[in-house]
Amino acid sequence: MTLWLRDARWIDPATHAIRAGHLAVDAGEAVEPGARSGGTPAGVRARPPGSVRFVDTIPSDAETYDCAGRLVTRAFANAHHHVYSALARGMPAPPRTPTSFVEILQLVWWRLDKALDEPMIRASARAVAVDALRCGCTFVIDHHASPNAASGSLHALAEEFDALGVGHLLCYELSDRDGPERLTAALDETDAYLRTHPGLVGLHASFTVSDALLERAAELAVRHATGVHVHVAEAASDEEHCRRVHDTTVVERFARAGLLDSPRTLLVHGLHLDDDERARIAASPAWVVQNPESNRHNAVGLFDPRGLGERILLGTDGMHSDMLASARAAYLDGQQTGGCSPDAIVRRLRRVHEYLAQGGFAGDGADDLVVLDDPSPTPITQANWSAHVLYGLAARHVHAVIRGGRLVVERGEVLGVDTERILAQAREQAARLWRRLA
Ligand SMILES: [Zn+2]
Repeated sequence: MTLWLRDARWIDPATHAIRAGHLAVDAGEAVEPGARSGGTPAGVRARPPGSVRFVDTIPSDAETYDCAGRLVTRAFANAHHHVYSALARGMPAPPRTPTSFVEILQLVWWRLDKALDEPMIRASARAVAVDALRCGCTFVIDHHASPNAASGSLHALAEEFDALGVGHLLCYELSDRDGPERLTAALDETDAYLRTHPGLVGLHASFTVSDALLERAAELAVRHATGVHVHVAEAASDEEHCRRVHDTTVVERFARAGLLDSPRTLLVHGLHLDDDERARIAASPAWVVQNPESNRHNAVGLFDPRGLGERILLGTDGMHSDMLASARAAYLDGQQTGGCSPDAIVRRLRRVHEYLAQGGFAGDGADDLVVLDDPSPTPITQANWSAHVLYGLAARHVHAVIRGGRLVVERGEVLGVDTERILAQAREQAARLWRRLA
């Protein structure tokens, strides 16, 4: 299938080279969940992803979208999200005000995740999917927790994302924090899901994961030929706990368990790493995910990329689905920690495509595009594109989105989807959830 884009101003996502003309967007080969070959993970793409090429003329009977001179570039992808927090906005205050990061988890997020059931999870997924698409984001890497509704939860998220046309790489946040019965259900869900879908093995964080669970998670990841997705040194207390209980650092502990051996592994946050841990990560094939707004929100510190190498991605940590906002926040935070260039931040925004392609994960391709209004009072050039991304572009400039070579958003509306109904259903589920938290 080919979609023809008339009068586009194409910005190469890697080189930022700019060229005006007509584009042919050739859709990649769709991959059926469960398609498996040899020792590769389920859902690995067997054929090349889609492509974009310039054409001199557009066939008269072709399916065409008129970009009217707008900017066209690769759609965005979110390297760390929590769909389960979608119904949290404006929820009742916790029983008392948290005074530490661990209390924020105990009094806010672990109360919320235990109250979730399947209708709430499905409503959260639909709300996140339409929000992500409207922000030009066509792929979400999610870290899910619903301890009293673990069974079937990843399958439910995947069904809702698939129905709305958002690519995904899911995992369940395994943890010992809710006792052995809930952990068994979460391990079973992870194993069952990874048998039929591409995904990751999720772990909450070192301080809620026993050695026995760490070993089981590492074994699951090897068995399913995938990586681990885990919070690392988000607060100083995670490192303190690890030294006290395990007599080592978080990264050293995870490295000994083999977690850092996979190029599919995602280490999230990494705020309180020492130099040895940074060097260990830099020497490994694993990736780090920065979540600047969440770090500010939890007052846990600022991300410092020094010594971590170049494999750094950006996420939103459940705060929203707007990757342009996350990139701008990362850029502003970078000025507080020794400075960073616009190009360095835009590389972080974009390397998620490399992570997904290298991991063989389906659902993110060159046929996923965003059409942007040009809001700029100054010239856009190959040399200054990153500055325009960080100082000028925002989600309100997303005019259209193409996923898998198909137009899915036009003028801010998700096509073929009753967004108002999805939001109304989410509000109903939010009211049920909040009653449980009151
Ligand atoms: Zn997170």
